[in-house]
Amino acid sequence: MAEILVYVDHVGGAVRKPTLELLTLARRLGEPVAVVLGAHAGETAAVLAEYGATRVLTNDAGEFADYLVVPKVDALQAAVEAVSPAAVLVPSSAESKEVAARLALRIGSGVITDATDLEAGDNGPVATQSAFAASFTTKSRVIKGTPVVTVKPNSAPAEPAPAAGSTEPLAVSFSQEAGGTKVVSRTPRASTGRPELTEAAIVVSGGRGVNGAENFAIIEALADSLGGAVGASRAAVDAGWYPHSNQVGQTGKSVSPQLYIASGISGAIQHRAGMQTSKTIVAINKDPEAPIFDLVDYGVVGDLFGVVPALTEEIRVRKG
Ligand code: FAD
Repeated sequence: MAEILVYVDHVGGAVRKPTLELLTLARRLGEPVAVVLGAHAGETAAVLAEYGATRVLTNDAGEFADYLVVPKVDALQAAVEAVSPAAVLVPSSAESKEVAARLALRIGSGVITDATDLEAGDNGPVATQSAFAASFTTKSRVIKGTPVVTVKPNSAPAEPAPAAGSTEPLAVSFSQEAGGTKVVSRTPRASTGRPELTEAAIVVSGGRGVNGAENFAIIEALADSLGGAVGASRAAVDAGWYPHSNQVGQTGKSVSPQLYIASGISGAIQHRAGMQTSKTIVAINKDPEAPIFDLVDYGVVGDLFGVVPALTEEIRVRKG
């Protein structure tokens, strides 16, 4: 059976959920072979095996942390040469997309970014993408070389399927370019305790209708009752009510959660571009003509200052 390389995103040996989703998708195409780079790489083997990795290729060289991007491209190229996979799957984070693009160029292959689904086809994997602010759904496949595909978080459920997951060292010789951009300092981001916006299964967003930074507390409370992340429209971010890192949309982050709740957001095309692939969309807006209602699964016409706290309370009661 064909082998599929899966590039593992992990933090100090803790595998992030989008990688487990990638392993699920990889199993549709062949046997997943995981590539894990950096410190604590070996500690990921058990969970990768649980989610279907037949082999786990590791390299814990310091270069992966000390320099940007290129050492990872060197390693993935080495893995492609060692395994001759039928495809390479990469999580759709900003850094990983750069790794994927550089890898594809190196190995003379085509690349597809931000796939929202993947299926086996007669001539290689077929990727689903959402284009032009999600007004079109396209299906495409790479026609040259080994397909390199980046897949958005929440594109598939992470389903366990235990496999051998035998750990093997990956030999990497770093290119001259690997040392080009050195990381000189790191500042850890203050943690909110909430899931990462782009990976969260549930996102609760607030817009101009929230009407002030202090009022975002009700959006946060709803997000916390659901274990979700908090997003914001650009209007709310530009007004200084919520950090730019939480902006959803064309010039913000692209999210694709199982559930997206938009409160006091009109549904401008630039906002939709970042959330329209969400599986279930709920909007709370006092204007029944708001464009957001064109794309929702459930719409509540009402004042968010009444609806959001009531919803939060009801969820708390039901959760006991
Ligand atoms: P508004 O459009 O002002 O809508 C507020 C909504 O809240 C209204 O529908 C109103 O009925 C409702 N409301 C008010 N009070 C209440 C209440 N008490 N209860 C319930 N509902 C209430 N926008 C983004 O979001 N993300 C982007 O990445 C982005 N990128 C952009 C890039 C470019 C190049 C440009 C030109 C624009 C971009 N925008 C982006 C801006 C976008 O066009 C809109 O201006 C923005 O999304 C509007 O934000 P909003 O829906 O919060 O505000």
